[in-house]
Amino acid sequence: MDIQEIKSLIRDIPDFPKPGILFRDITTLLCDPQGLRSTIDLLAGTCAPLNPDYIVGIESRGFIFGTPVAHQLGCGFVPVRKPKKLPAPVHRVSYDLEYGQDQLEIHQDAISSGDRIVIVDDLMATGGTAKAAAELIEKAEGQLVGCVFVIELEALGGRQNLPEVPIASLIQY
Ligand code: IMP
Repeated sequence: MDIQEIKSLIRDIPDFPKPGILFRDITTLLCDPQGLRSTIDLLAGTCAPLNPDYIVGIESRGFIFGTPVAHQLGCGFVPVRKPKKLPAPVHRVSYDLEYGQDQLEIHQDAISSGDRIVIVDDLMATGGTAKAAAELIEKAEGQLVGCVFVIELEALGGRQNLPEVPIASLIQY
């Protein structure tokens, strides 16, 4: 399945989660067998040349895409989670949302110094979430070598917020 066919499986939901937002819904892509397989294959093919030791996936849709990519590459998967979900000692970062702040956490012992890390998430908008994940990887002394997204909302300029590593997306709006 090519990129245009994959894109056609993403559903647009106007005014979700609040008025004025056009939500790109990937659940319709996930439930299409060939769409899911092709998306994972393309993500894995994008990550492979970066030679990661770990895929870091951001809660929660980053888990859906990141884990099968790690499986396909034969590397490990590390979850970045919302606060108070991880049971062992964590590194924590706060980051700004449109209204207010949120936090993300990673287990302190998940990554060793110098490990090669690729961040995987479903969608980059402002880049704030991926930037927070990049800060966690830095705290853990991992080496961020790339960020890979299914979808990039180009108008929001998220790339400018991220560290200078290769950034790739399969589908752009
Ligand atoms: P950012 O931090 O502004 O780049 O927003 C990215 C985060 O918000 C990702 O973790 C996405 O899962 C989520 N997100 C923002 N907009 C959408 C959307 O239209 N569809 C699905 N997820 C979205």
